[in-house]
Amino acid sequence: MQKKQHTNFPRIAVVGSTNMDMVVNAERIPVPGETILAHHFFMNPGGKGANQAVTVARLGGATLFISKVGNDVFGRQSSQLFHEEGIDTRFMLSDDILPSGVALITVDQKGENSIVVSQGANNALLPEDFTGAILKELEKCTMVLMQFEIPMETILHVARYAASKNIKVVINPAPVQTIPPQLLKYTHILTPNETEAELLTGIKVKNLDTAKKAAKAILEMGASVVIVTLGAQGALVCEQGKMTLVPTEAVQAVDTTAAGDVFNGALVVGLSNGMQLPEATRFACRAAAISVTREGAQSSIPYYNEVIAHFV
Ligand code: ADP
Repeated sequence: MQKKQHTNFPRIAVVGSTNMDMVVNAERIPVPGETILAHHFFMNPGGKGANQAVTVARLGGATLFISKVGNDVFGRQSSQLFHEEGIDTRFMLSDDILPSGVALITVDQKGENSIVVSQGANNALLPEDFTGAILKELEKCTMVLMQFEIPMETILHVARYAASKNIKVVINPAPVQTIPPQLLKYTHILTPNETEAELLTGIKVKNLDTAKKAAKAILEMGASVVIVTLGAQGALVCEQGKMTLVPTEAVQAVDTTAAGDVFNGALVVGLSNGMQLPEATRFACRAAAISVTREGAQSSIPYYNEVIAHFV
């Protein structure tokens, strides 16, 4: 494994999901009641929280990851992997009843997939888990990054607490669901992709113009900064009456899995390292552009040296 850069970035907390993706490649997706043989099976650590925490760590951030897994082999394996990435795993919590989150993925010969996700212990990361020691560690962080694969009541609780301690809250609203208005009050930056921006606003996002309209509508809901990620076009940064399109790099995309996760992880690293919003967004686009040139989720996440090479 490539060694991560040791830099003096402030501490960043990621609160979110951990999953184990279990992937089978088969000729086709079986119909109900059918059993077929697979060509190949592999496991991939995943979950948006985990992908974002690994990104922060590989980009040199001092990373505190708060997540809940089951008391099982997947949970232990994930915690071990995060530890090896240099992530602070003291608050990887373990649930005695629920299993670790898993995604069961079948990919057919044409590359079509069918996915069933069991959220397991991710659903048991609750506000009451955030007591004494965890809150103390959280207070040492300058930013907290969260996504929507854990209970909304937990996200709201952590955001409220963080905001009360002047810790900046970045919310990646994925997978999309209704956002409680109070959450926007505590959120510094909201980072939907095109689909999420559309589902949040009802405005069909199909070009830059409609992305701007959707971003404006989200700002009107109460968000202070909105960054709409636009795939190969880059990202639209919107703050108080100002909208800037930050282009990404033209690359040969091989696999865009986790591009959004890499973008979010890199964004908080850039901001924590003192970059202004447009520069941090450019840094995030560069990291995400590198990731789409590689297969897989966590396997595609770049290291600090790779991202800063040619970053001017
Ligand atoms: P998500 O993965 O959540 O659907 P996007 O597709 O918007 O999110 O991608 C997130 C970011 O990844 C984009 O803002 C961009 O910086 C980068 N990215 C995604 N696809 C490409 C691509 N084909 N070429 C270069 N950069 C890309």
